[in-house]
Amino acid sequence: MRANRILDTLAGQGITRRAFLKYCATLASLMALPPSAGKAFADALAKAPRPSVIWLPFQECTGCTEAITRSHSPSIEGMLFDMISLDYQETLMAAAGHQAEAALHEAIQRNMGKYLLIVDGSVPLGLDGAYSCIAGRSNLETLKEVAAGAAAIVAMGSCAAYGGLPKANPNPTGAVAVSDVIKDKPIINIPGCPPIPVVMTGVLAHFLTFGGLPELDRLGRPKAFYGETIHDRCYRRPFYDQGKFAKTFDDEGARKGWCLFELGCKGPVTYNACASVKWNDGTSWPVESGHGCLGCSEPDFWDAGGFYKALSMPARPLKLEPAAIAAGVVAGAAIAASSRSRKSAAKAAHETTTLADLEK
Ligand code: SF4
Ligand code: SF4
Repeated sequence: MRANRILDTLAGQGITRRAFLKYCATLASLMALPPSAGKAFADALAKAPRPSVIWLPFQECTGCTEAITRSHSPSIEGMLFDMISLDYQETLMAAAGHQAEAALHEAIQRNMGKYLLIVDGSVPLGLDGAYSCIAGRSNLETLKEVAAGAAAIVAMGSCAAYGGLPKANPNPTGAVAVSDVIKDKPIINIPGCPPIPVVMTGVLAHFLTFGGLPELDRLGRPKAFYGETIHDRCYRRPFYDQGKFAKTFDDEGARKGWCLFELGCKGPVTYNACASVKWNDGTSWPVESGHGCLGCSEPDFWDAGGFYKALSMPARPLKLEPAAIAAGVVAGAAIAASSRSRKSAAKAAHETTTLADLEK
């Protein structure tokens, strides 16, 4: 691992201190932390050496790696690779074969007990693990060896967190989650198919700043990002509350941006941050594109199926005050407005207030 500090590395990439402070303030805001946390992030990250990260891709589709690397520099997701020393990642590293294996073992020895282990993909146990082997060893063998020297483990994506699509019935490879086989290390689950990149960045920054994992929910997910349902933060929620539902993907209701509940949206039972953080540098997210949430950050979402079948729970319109309904209708009608311009305006307002706090 290179011994340079994160701030030096960022400076070498042309990222100014001001941009760095903006990043810290935004991160604190996204994680629902008080403004003082932005300063704590800035102070700790500026001094911290780049942490060693070993990333093991197992039984996966590479979607999680794709999601993390599809960043829009200088977005906060893009900073991920400047903040860490990614010492092993088969998909991204130049080395292959024996060289790659040597790099893995060198990274383990050099950072014993201190590195962060990221795993994406499930672990197949069937046929003694023969369904997925690297360098002649099963994923289970590799996981046990690398986990033994890790400070903490991040199970990235629904496959590593819950078994995911490979575990779907009839689970021909005997796929399990990381937490099913590793019991003696702190594990944080970042589910999603794929997971939202900024969640990974936030967890990493929290680990470096506060020396541990953020508060987790009952499924091992960071509460800051998985504490509310998609439905809680959905901009179509006012239509749900009024009982206005699109009946097909191309009817009048769909064109007006009405709620997708009757078209199978799983937002009411899905905990994730898509509705607030969005995707592709905050450009949009599935419901904003006109498709219901599939529930990809919940266990066994694939087996639950029924992606276009309404949840059996009844749609229960809340009793809202007329003023709240009117405000909701206005918000819902904004579906036609540019999401990017709305995002820029919100971001600018946020940065104006929190940057001032940080630069005191
Ligand atoms: S579209 Fe889905 S998440 Fe949004 S309000 Fe309707 S049911 Fe809830
Ligand atoms: S909207 Fe739902 S299905 Fe889509 S990425 Fe977010 S949690 Fe997954």
